[in-house]
Amino acid sequence: MLLINLTACKDGEKKRYETEFLNLFDTVTRIVGYADSEEEFTKQVQMIHDDLEVYHQLYDIYNDYPGVSNIKTINDQAGLAPVKVDQKIIDLLKFSQEAYNMSDGKVNVAMGAVLKIWHDHREAGTEDPEKATLPSVEELQAASEHTDINQMFIDEKNNTVFLKDPKMSLDVGAIAKGYATEMVSKFAEKNGVTSMLLSVGGNVRSIGKRGDGAEWKVGVQNPYDQNGKNISKVSLTESSLVTSGIYERYYRIDGKIYHHIIDPVTLFPASYFVSVTILCPDSGMADALSTAVFNVPFEEGKALIERLPDTEALWAFADGTIKYSSHFKDYVSE
Ligand code: ADP
Ligand code: MG
Repeated sequence: MLLINLTACKDGEKKRYETEFLNLFDTVTRIVGYADSEEEFTKQVQMIHDDLEVYHQLYDIYNDYPGVSNIKTINDQAGLAPVKVDQKIIDLLKFSQEAYNMSDGKVNVAMGAVLKIWHDHREAGTEDPEKATLPSVEELQAASEHTDINQMFIDEKNNTVFLKDPKMSLDVGAIAKGYATEMVSKFAEKNGVTSMLLSVGGNVRSIGKRGDGAEWKVGVQNPYDQNGKNISKVSLTESSLVTSGIYERYYRIDGKIYHHIIDPVTLFPASYFVSVTILCPDSGMADALSTAVFNVPFEEGKALIERLPDTEALWAFADGTIKYSSHFKDYVSE
């Protein structure tokens, strides 16, 4: 069942509708839109859902789908053979290479070997908190020998991807959701959607304006209290807001939080911030940057953000301090 919840209320000319679904990217997708009728909105949402589902299957690293060669297929064939894949995978991986270069390796989709170790410990530790364990430094270091992104070969002529190192694997978790959100938004815009706010697990992307002509306003979730008041409300115009935070996926050992964003240098969860929020036109870029900036000290991340056009960031520190890039506050609406 696609439409879990459909509400409509009059607001200006068009009506405001809302829906959500839970079956994609292991997260909640929420859509708010203005349309002439419920029928029109339902059609738009179905189109977005179906397009997003294509990306969900292609970018999956855990599951196989009949007749689909996806990122998992590439991983399964590491060291064995190049895999012929959809252009959407080639494009994602080329974007991931750019993100790697731009971030000086702080976001590295070839870190699968290291990330899998953390993933397995986190899953086990979440299931049975009493028996939660940390990976050993030795096993993390051994895995990190197999994270060289230059061992990922993209053959654009034949549309194949080959991981030369048999022990390496791709984990596109830092980028894929935002990248897919961007692609699906562009697809929706091309197909007549004019007023929508799409949130794929907090990767927010706006299309057009609200039905009453105002800009979309999106809250930055409070990283200190998930039920608390948003720390800022930001206006979005054809742009995206993405947050990476320690509270999204984590487990605890002796009360200490071990979250899911891993510093490629220490091979442990990065501990500079509790969250980093990126505001920029492209949701794929925002997702890549949110992970990259999370993994570097404030000054270094700020320098990167200030270099990029139309890109702003908010850093939330463990002691409650919030810092902003030069123009973030220009977008804060309340
Ligand atoms: P989320 O998608 O949960 O909102 P992120 O965009 O920050 O958060 O992505 C986190 C995910 O990215 C992790 O679950 C993991 O799969 C992957 N990841 C963690 N650290 C890195 C890293 N340094 N480089 C690339 N991918 C990473
Ligand atoms: Mg990210």
